[in-house]
Amino acid sequence: MSEFVKIYSYGGVQEEYCKKINKIYHEIMKIEKPVAYVKTYGCQQNVSDSEKLKGMLSEMGFTISCDCDKADIILFNTCAIRENAENKVFGNLGRVKAIKKKNPNTIIILCGCMTEQEPVVQKIKLMYPFVDLIFGTHSAQEFPKMLYDILNKNSSKGKLVHIINKEDSILENAPLIRNNKIKAFISIMSGCNNFCSYCIVPYVRGRERSRRPEAIIKEFKLLLEKGYKDLTLLGQNVNSYGKDLEEQINFPSLLKKLDDFKYEYKIRFMTSHPKDATKELVDVIANSKHIARNIHLPVQSGSNQILKRMNRKYTKESYLEIIEYAKEKIPNVTFSSDIIVGFPGETYEDFCETLELIKNVKFSSLFTFIYSPREGTPAATLPDPVSKKEKTKWLLELLKVQESISQEICKKMVGREERVLAENYIENEKCLMCRSDGNIILKVPSNTDLSGEFINVNIVDSARESLMGSLI
Ligand code: SF4
Repeated sequence: MSEFVKIYSYGGVQEEYCKKINKIYHEIMKIEKPVAYVKTYGCQQNVSDSEKLKGMLSEMGFTISCDCDKADIILFNTCAIRENAENKVFGNLGRVKAIKKKNPNTIIILCGCMTEQEPVVQKIKLMYPFVDLIFGTHSAQEFPKMLYDILNKNSSKGKLVHIINKEDSILENAPLIRNNKIKAFISIMSGCNNFCSYCIVPYVRGRERSRRPEAIIKEFKLLLEKGYKDLTLLGQNVNSYGKDLEEQINFPSLLKKLDDFKYEYKIRFMTSHPKDATKELVDVIANSKHIARNIHLPVQSGSNQILKRMNRKYTKESYLEIIEYAKEKIPNVTFSSDIIVGFPGETYEDFCETLELIKNVKFSSLFTFIYSPREGTPAATLPDPVSKKEKTKWLLELLKVQESISQEICKKMVGREERVLAENYIENEKCLMCRSDGNIILKVPSNTDLSGEFINVNIVDSARESLMGSLI
């Protein structure tokens, strides 16, 4: 399923630059098949952005390769959410230096959230001067022009930094390459207005901008026509979709429109902010034909004191109210969540409230993180007296609790029948990889590769966090 599928065709001035770049590589540099390597760090939003950048590169005549050693262009689409992600980029830049030394014509490009931070840009310029182009999240639509300027030495010494603060509407109709023919991400909005005290996203991605519903519906329909079966709507906070648009539309009403096509498919979405998750949303899921019965609702903490410090703008009680409503309205619904352990000022008592909430909700899976400060966020200035060792102890305690909950949920599913999408086939194991409606991994033995098809499955066994099924 790694074949690239091109969906759109560009247009206008950037398409002209794509043609010019194609000409430079073919006619001037005499490279018949230029190769680009694109590495994506971080969230699904970045994966989606990289699909657009790969689409533009393809329009310029590049083949996308997984091998950076022989690439003519090496592009890192970076993530700023955790320091660890940034360190990985700096580490890989060190490796790329040797490639650039061997072949000085290789163009090194850095883009994405990291580059929206001025100190990071300064560090790159100082310590990694071989980087040719740095551009921010709001400049991506001008990628062809920027690359053309580099190749044409229109920029100073052939290097370019292009970070604009203007938050344009979302790039529409960009060429796009998807590396999966069954599952696709559709970005419905960009940016965030919430300013959770630990998060860098609003500073690097800017304020919320929703795509027009017609553009989303058009893209969605096109994907269904092309045979895509599992479509995930993306945004930093999908629940506030439409608030910035003139027309009267919100996320539940968008979902309703997308649920109405006569194909067999699944709709998923992320990420939801609990403060904007409404009963209307739950009702739409409950009455839908295609929306997966899994709600990812990042709670982060079960202590009201900590939620306040995090600036999350909901309480444990309001969170539990929406969870209870969903349990009541959507049979067999599962929940997943994100938890930060050891937020500055968190006590063991606060942490125990998180444990209580986890036991109460019974999440099918959790994404857990030990708090790590992000420079430039309010939380990074808060006193943080609990040691990393202590926080790690808390995290292990939490994981143990969660493990038995996941196990219990999986066990309860044995004996159930489900219609699921076969996402992948593992030839040497003769096994189809699927996901239950509640987003739990499900393995189904099969002698035939049925990936891309919906199959009826009997759930026959469970493991710690996964299920085993048999074809009906
Ligand atoms: S909702 Fe909060 S955690 Fe999520 S992107 Fe916005 S600021 Fe960051």
